[in-house]
Amino acid sequence: MLTSLQKAKAFNQQYRLVGRHSAVKICLWTKQCIRSGKVCYKQEFYGIHTGNCLEMTPAILCNHRCLHCWRDTSLFAPKWEGGVDDPKEIIRGCIDARRELMIGFGGSEKVKADKQKLAALNTFLAPDHAAISLTGEPCLYPRLPELIDALFDDFHFRTVFLVTNGTVPEMLKRIGTESKHFPTNTYLSLQAYNFDSHKKLNHPVVLDTWNKIIESLKYLSTVKDKTRTIVRITVINGHNMSHAREFLPYVKLMKPHFIEVKGYGFLGMSRRRLKEENVPSWEEVQGFAEEIAHVSGYKITLQHEPSDIVQLREK
Ligand code: SF4
Repeated sequence: MLTSLQKAKAFNQQYRLVGRHSAVKICLWTKQCIRSGKVCYKQEFYGIHTGNCLEMTPAILCNHRCLHCWRDTSLFAPKWEGGVDDPKEIIRGCIDARRELMIGFGGSEKVKADKQKLAALNTFLAPDHAAISLTGEPCLYPRLPELIDALFDDFHFRTVFLVTNGTVPEMLKRIGTESKHFPTNTYLSLQAYNFDSHKKLNHPVVLDTWNKIIESLKYLSTVKDKTRTIVRITVINGHNMSHAREFLPYVKLMKPHFIEVKGYGFLGMSRRRLKEENVPSWEEVQGFAEEIAHVSGYKITLQHEPSDIVQLREK
């Protein structure tokens, strides 16, 4: 689905393409874990293994062009074109490509010079956590339910996290119906607090994605006994920062187990669309979370300043 120019760009950005529409990359936190033993908020909040994370996507395409997206959205196709790769082939390809990238990382002078770091690298070569979130909208991959089952049953992953923008409720409804397993965590990313802010912040490239997001929020309230549900709100100064209370109707619709409030980071390609002043301070992120807690009845449970994230839990 990608042109040769797009493929070259992706390679330079440290993605490794797998098959026709999937990709893998080593997360910065995984590298940090090897270098210094530091772990990401997902290990601290939910017990995943940072060093054994397979950050991947089965769909390098998206129906949004969000302002805050750190990915290179010029790599996204607007709609699915071409064939659909086999889920097990995708997983195998991602694991192999990750392993090569990790071994390459082991060749770096800092890691090579330190026996402990080399030993850590060996422990982390086999992934046991899948973050289906690297880039694009994974629910656009037509065989996602099979991919989730294969991760658990054929590749023995311990945890699988799915992150969606909520625009494909039809796929969310197929998970657990056409698959044996649900993801361990199902995240819905929400930046918009009404239809106008949706158009401004998410730049949908197809019509009707706002209604689809509402449908997904409602649907996810019905599967809370099957998967840990989380709404993640990325707060951006000058855009949604002063609208905490306006997120309440969506929290009420989804009734997620957790809310994660994350500060926008001035990273990657988002630097072309936003400015440094759009980055909230840690205190502002905490303030937004406190306001949500005040109006929603959720309580602040955990915080991870290095990731700029505050977690709130249903009481
Ligand atoms: S939905 Fe996600 S992948 Fe798509 S443009 Fe927005 S942030 Fe990027």
